[in-house]
Amino acid sequence: MDFQNLLNIIYKDCKSASTEGKVANYIPELAKINPNKFGMALITKDESLYSVGDSAEAFSIQSIVKVISLCIAKEYLGKDLWKRVSVEPSGTPFNSLTELERENGIPRNPFINAGALVVTDVLIDILEHPKQDFLKFVRRLTKDNSINYNAEVAKSEQKHGYRNTALINYMKALGNINNSPVEVLDLYYHMCAIEMNCEQLAKTFLVFANQGRLANSDEEVISAKSVKRINAIMQTCGFYDEAGEFAYKVGLPGKSGVGGGIVAVHPNAYSVAVWSPKLNQKGNSQLGISALESLTTLSGLSVF
Ligand code: GLN
Repeated sequence: MDFQNLLNIIYKDCKSASTEGKVANYIPELAKINPNKFGMALITKDESLYSVGDSAEAFSIQSIVKVISLCIAKEYLGKDLWKRVSVEPSGTPFNSLTELERENGIPRNPFINAGALVVTDVLIDILEHPKQDFLKFVRRLTKDNSINYNAEVAKSEQKHGYRNTALINYMKALGNINNSPVEVLDLYYHMCAIEMNCEQLAKTFLVFANQGRLANSDEEVISAKSVKRINAIMQTCGFYDEAGEFAYKVGLPGKSGVGGGIVAVHPNAYSVAVWSPKLNQKGNSQLGISALESLTTLSGLSVF
């Protein structure tokens, strides 16, 4: 498969496409990003890397990080984690409050904000130095020690994060948060504010295409059993109330973030990251989805 040629074709199409999407502005620091950026990178299981456009420019990975935090919590707690967060698609926006009351403070899945806050609470319980240890784990996956938090983005979200404050206080009241809400939110905002470029993001997620092992190594960083399950959750819940549409159009497990990034994996084959900051109404990158749809359609390489 000539992946470079495919990426070049997709890049050309996306650059000339007109989009109505809008950059996320509820985190003021993210509103400053040039909406016309577009980058894409694909890495195969043998670590051959293909990229195009602004693929070396870092952006805020935002909700994409929820997949990595889930891995750590799942490895430590095993199936006990599912007593505190379910694995059902929510059919609601990422920051929705409504389901929580019906579900007695147990979020529908780990990728909506409520679920990710529970997972973050678990990380505070199990990691000795949560911020440092989390970053260390991410750097191990990426094989890149330059990955870091962007403190300005974290601060900017903290200042305006009234919905997340509401979610966590409600779950605290119902007994599903162990630590102080302020401490959990601080770690959550920092994790969301990790920056990566498309190449780093594709490399980080290669572990999900490689049964939990780092590429070209036998080192199992996440158990193969967890990887199978986390890929399933990406497939069913990775795009909130657009998860069905993403599965229909793209046909890969994946995860989006309001920074405009999307990462998707083809188990045992490749991992691909795309970045275009303009979001559709569901909070997912509009051109990012089209680019991935073209990739799997033109290559014939989806899980279906
Ligand atoms: N940090 C963002 C929030 O909590 C993440 C949301 C997202 O990327 N969908 O709202």
